[in-house]
Parts: sequence; structure tokens; C-alpha cells
Amino acid sequence: MAKIQTLRGFRDIIGEEINKFRAIEEVSRRYFSLFSFTEIEVPILEKTELFVRSIGDTTDIVEKEMFTFADLGGDSVTLRPEATAGVVRAYLQAGLYSKERISKIFTIGPMFRHEKPQKGRFREFHQIDVEVFGGDDPLVDAELLWMISLIVNELDIGEFTIEVNSVGCPQCRETFRTDIVAYFEAKKDQLCEDCLRRLYRNPLRIFDCKKAGCIETSQQSPFLFDSLCTSCKDHFEILQGYLNNFSVPAIINKRLVRGLDYYTKTVFEVTSNALGAQKAFIAGGRYDNLVAEMGGPHIPGSGFAIGIERLALLMKPKDVPCKPCYFFAYVGEKARHYIVPLFREFIRNDISLRYALEGKSLKSQMRYADSLNADFVLILGEDEIDRGIITLRDMRTKNQWELPLVPSELPCAALNLIA
Ligand SMILES: [Zn+2]
Ligand SMILES: [Zn+2]
Repeated sequence: MAKIQTLRGFRDIIGEEINKFRAIEEVSRRYFSLFSFTEIEVPILEKTELFVRSIGDTTDIVEKEMFTFADLGGDSVTLRPEATAGVVRAYLQAGLYSKERISKIFTIGPMFRHEKPQKGRFREFHQIDVEVFGGDDPLVDAELLWMISLIVNELDIGEFTIEVNSVGCPQCRETFRTDIVAYFEAKKDQLCEDCLRRLYRNPLRIFDCKKAGCIETSQQSPFLFDSLCTSCKDHFEILQGYLNNFSVPAIINKRLVRGLDYYTKTVFEVTSNALGAQKAFIAGGRYDNLVAEMGGPHIPGSGFAIGIERLALLMKPKDVPCKPCYFFAYVGEKARHYIVPLFREFIRNDISLRYALEGKSLKSQMRYADSLNADFVLILGEDEIDRGIITLRDMRTKNQWELPLVPSELPCAALNLIA
């Protein structure tokens, strides 16, 4: 029978990669706890309207990348393409804004985008999403960037760059819009079909078009950064001061815009050249109007997402330091009866113990133990049983000891011996 495979762009995360996933999660969770973040889980499936309204209907994500379908009742539902929209919805639904002055929230899980699968980019991918609600001070953004730098440094991924920019507020964007429409109108013939459509509806989107012609065309364009209003300019300057105080080595990239409409003022990306053309593995920014646009009170927000797959690509395979692992090799039916009592005692003492289900020759069991990277092997045969002992063999040094064959005392005796 033909084997059933995963859907295109969907994968199983196994082996070395899942270890990296867990390492990323573990380090991140440690800092989240230290920075007073609390975890929430939000649904993977939401009303389509949630994403259209928050992400913006002229964005690439909403226009072509969402897994949207009608459920059995005929309602349009979507697999979340990012986490912020759902977290904002949850924040409002739980009324957190009336309970906490500042809400610091994170969530971890899969996201879905119908993109062309490529290196480190899949249709199902995983993100760690972090959001802070209730603070418009640039100190909030600086704190997030500092936390990011601590997490990334600890994961030891080689060189990375933190790029920051300001995309201003609706007011400065309006001024800029006029300039940018005039600029691109003169170069209309060089824009792709999508960007032509965006030119009047949402010209800023042209900056994150991935088509070579559009990237080329926007190279000489004026920067939104240069049209910032006084308040946005001040915000950005204060942010830079804080980043200095935290010793976060951020560089300004005036070309940086994010592929979502809700960002205001601070936007940032953490990039690595090892990832190729699309080199960001962490991205985020401030969204001062999103909560209000989602029907809530006017509460500013700031956050970011870590692309777990992409960050994992940058990590070197690591020897995970682990507790010693034991293997039980037995010869004969009588010795086999010791599997259960030994297994129970070792697990009870927090020590791994493996064994072969079929007790073939001692030689083949030793080979098996070797293939499992066992540190120690307990050897039991008729002769040992008669003498009331069990042999403990150190697989590295090849030293051997004889220990009393008392399952309840063995784990301690074994640990004491190697200590
Ligand atoms: Zn502004
Ligand atoms: Zn384009």
C-alpha cells in the first residue's frame, strides 16, 4: 500500500531538531519568567475576520498566504498565520486591561501560512510570541530587545544583527504617503501587479514586496524615517538611549518595514546572514493602535515573535549533557526476570535504564548498549545469580565491579561507585 506523506510544507520535527526546539524554548522560558511574563494558550483556529482586521487586508499574508476555509456551518475560519491577533483578542476577551496596568504575555505554538516552501520556511512553522500591553514608553521596546539579545546570546548561534527602525504613527505616515506615491508613480512600469494595486491603497507595502524589480525600484525611494513627526522622532531617540544603557548593539535600518499593517513607531528584526536572502529570525515592534482597532480601549502594545525553525537552523548540534545512562544485559531466563525490578528501582531513582527485549548473546547486547551510548552496563547471568552479585561495567574505561544483587540498593550503589 502507498504510504501517506505529510502535506507539502508540513513536517515532522524529529531527532536533533526537536532537541534544538526544546533548548530554544527552555532558554526563552527562563528569561520570560525572569522578566515577569506569563504564558497563555490561544486557539489555532479563529474567525477569518480577526486576521483580516488586525494584519490588514492588503498585506501578503491576508491576500495570499492564509489557510482559510468554510467550516461545516459555513463560517469562514482561518488557521492562525501569526500570534499577535489572537493574543490581542484573548487580552480583550479576558478583560485583562481592567485588571493589570501592564500585561506581559507569551505563547508558543504552530502558525500556518500558505507560502512557497523554502529553506527554513514551512507552511506550518513554530513561533514564540511575546507581547506587552499597556506601555507606550520606549523603555518597553528596549526591554524587549534586551531580553532578545540575552536569549540569543545564550543560544550561541554565531553572529547576528539587531536592526531597528521607526515606522511612525498614522500622522507621519500620511505625510510620507504623498511623497511615496509620487515617487512610485514615476516608476510605475517597474512595479509588479501586486504593488501597482498597493500603490494607492497601501503604498508602504511595496517595501516588503519580495520581487526583484520592486526591491530595485524602492532602493532610491525616500525613507518614512525621514518624515517622522516630532513625537515619533523623540520616541525613537529615547529608545536608542535605552538600548545604549542596556548595551544592546542595535543598528538603524531605515528600510525596515514589517509585513503587517498594525505596527507603529518601533519595528525591529534580528537577522543572520547564515539564513540567506530572508535573514530575519526574530521580528516585532510596537502597535499602539491595534488594541483599539480590535474593538478595545486605546492601549499601546509592543511585542515580537521568534521563528523557532529559523533560529534552530542557526544552532550547532549540541552534546546535551545528560545523566549517566545504564543498560541491563542479561543471559538466560532467570536473569531476564530481573528486568522489571531493576527497571522499577532505576526509574524510581531518576536514572535511565535500557535493556534489550530479546536477550540474544551477551556480545550482541553489549553491541546494542554501545549503539545506545550507554555509559554503564549491568551484566547478569546464571553465574552471577548463583553468587548473588551483578557486574557493573564502565563502557568508557572498561572497568568492572561486582555489586550485591539487591535491586532496591543497586541504583545507589551504582551511583556511589562512579561518584
Ligand atoms: Zn508620528
Ligand atoms: Zn511588487
